[in-house]
Amino acid sequence: MTQANLPEYDYDVMIIGGGPAGYTAGIYAARAALKTLLIEGAGTVSQITITDLIENYPGIPDGISGFELMQLFKKQAQKFGLEILPRDVTAVRKILDQPVIWEVTAGDKVYTTLSLIAASGAMWRSLGVPGESEFAGKGVSYCATCDGPFYRNRDVMVVGGGDTAIQEALFLTHFAKKVIVIHRRDRLRAAGMLQQRAFAEKKIEFVWNATVEEITGADFVTGAKVKDVHTGKIREVAAEGAFIFVGRLPYTDMFKGLVEMDKAGFIITDENLRTKAPGIFAAGDCRAKLFRQVVTAAGDGANAVHSAELYIDDVKGQTY
Ligand code: NAP
Repeated sequence: MTQANLPEYDYDVMIIGGGPAGYTAGIYAARAALKTLLIEGAGTVSQITITDLIENYPGIPDGISGFELMQLFKKQAQKFGLEILPRDVTAVRKILDQPVIWEVTAGDKVYTTLSLIAASGAMWRSLGVPGESEFAGKGVSYCATCDGPFYRNRDVMVVGGGDTAIQEALFLTHFAKKVIVIHRRDRLRAAGMLQQRAFAEKKIEFVWNATVEEITGADFVTGAKVKDVHTGKIREVAAEGAFIFVGRLPYTDMFKGLVEMDKAGFIITDENLRTKAPGIFAAGDCRAKLFRQVVTAAGDGANAVHSAELYIDDVKGQTY
């Protein structure tokens, strides 16, 4: 039911982000006949589209590339008439209190909405050591799918011990002569199955209890200065590529000051994905949570729309 006294606004739901959380939200919102706009970053690379192989998304037993999977999500959302806009969102602000109306700036346009789903994702974190930015694109990489083929029959290093590092180290063995995984502890964080595969892979070597202090090189990377965390001793590890996979940072700057965030900037929600701000919900990797997977992001997208729908019904049922 819509009250005649409701102020004008453009959308019932605006979704910020074009990854698995955003597109699942888009599918659910468009199918529920909510007036919905999904804004996907124009200048940002999403993590999923550069993921080589996803083999744990249910219903796809042979695995699929992240890029292909997102094409399918998008196709399904478009089938339900989802409006999609490729733009970078630069600002979000509240322009009315009763009822709450949000204004989103994207490019040179502003859009108003009753509710917002933050599904803006996260991006790889850098190590912050000397040489890292200097050699970016000259041996330092954050994407094995993009750059792995340049390292045929060469030695590369991978920094990190999580799922991403190990999955990408395995992928790099398709090209590289040797893949040296440098990890700051004596145990991997990666899932058991990935660990088993990495330990069985002859091309992968491990440097345990070690931190990278500097990426070295001349015109291109030639190696890294690596410190033993127990002895403090520094040694040189030779490699022509340095692939860095040490976690991720959220794209949540546009929500700063509006919603509650943890120390790293991930958005805090309740179990129904409501933030402290009325009408703002968060889904996927930009949300503070333990497990970041395509399937959990998709689940978040569906839940966020359900909560948004209840919220919108409530707003439309009020008298102002
Ligand atoms: P992550 O799980 O946070 O792992 C980051 C790794 O980098 C950890 O091993 C960490 O060491 C290390 N690290 C962090 N900061 C470091 C620093 N400054 N110097 C050296 N090492 C550092 O990140 P992720 O691997 O990108 O994975 C993120 C999420 O995506 C996880 O939930 C993961 O399960 C999920 N993911 C899933 C799949 C899949 O299922 N196929 C694939 C990729 C990612 P410590 O272990 O010592 O903390």
